[in-house]
Amino acid sequence: MSQIFSLALKYEGQQGKQIIYPSLVKCGQDLILIDCGYPGFLTKIENAVQETGFSMSEITAIVITHHDLDHVGSLSRIRCRYPWIKVYSSAIEAAFIEGRERAPRLVQAEALFETLDEQQKVYALEFQKTLESIEAAKVDGFLSEGESPWPDLLIIETPGHTPGHLSLFHHPSNTVIAGDAVVIGDGEPDIANPEYTLDLPAAISSVEKLAKIGAERILCFHGGELNEGAGDKLRNLLRRYGQLN
Ligand SMILES: [Zn+2]
Repeated sequence: MSQIFSLALKYEGQQGKQIIYPSLVKCGQDLILIDCGYPGFLTKIENAVQETGFSMSEITAIVITHHDLDHVGSLSRIRCRYPWIKVYSSAIEAAFIEGRERAPRLVQAEALFETLDEQQKVYALEFQKTLESIEAAKVDGFLSEGESPWPDLLIIETPGHTPGHLSLFHHPSNTVIAGDAVVIGDGEPDIANPEYTLDLPAAISSVEKLAKIGAERILCFHGGELNEGAGDKLRNLLRRYGQLN
C-alpha cells in the first residue's frame, strides 16, 4: 500500500507563528521524507514522523526539492543520526547541497547587497551568514524527470525558484508534492517570493507543467494543502502572471 502524509512543523519565525510542511511517503518497502526543515529541526521532524505511526528508523530515503535553508537545514544532522538513509536531489542542487558550488541564493544576496540601505544591509549580512552556515551533506543519488527509484512517485523538474528544483507526483493519491514551486498565501496559490525567484519565467512554466498534471491535491511546503478546485486555482495564478488568457 502506498500512503502519503503532510508533516506540519511549527515554529516561531520572524513574522510570528509559522508552519512548514515536509511530506512523508510510504512506497512499498521505502519510507521517503521529502525536505527536512531549518537547522535545528531534527526533533521536530522526529516527532512529526512519529505522529504518522512510522518512526525515523523506518525512513529509507530523503528527497531534497532544492537547496534552501528551510528545506536542507537539518539534513546533515539527520544523516549523522540515521546514516543508512539515502539522500536524493537533482544533480544541479546536489552541487550546492554538497558544498561543491556556491548556492545561487547566496550569489544573489551578495549581488543585491550594494543596492541596499544601511538598515537593510544589517539584515542582509545576517541572512548571508545563515546561508553560509548551512552544513554540507552528501547526496547519494541524482533524480531527473522520467526516472524514479520509486514506482509510485514520479519526479517532475520544476526549475525557477532555484535552477534544479524538483517536485514529485504521487499517482496512487493523485497528489503533487510541489516543494516551493507553488506556495499558498491566503488560500490562494502563488509563486514563492517572485522578487527573489531566481528565474521567474521558468518558475511560471513550472507551475504550468504542474497544472497540466490535473492532480486533485497539491502539497505546498509553505501554506499546506490545496485540494478543492486545485486546478482552477493554478490556472488563476497563471492568468495573474499573464501566462493564460
Ligand atoms: Zn522554502
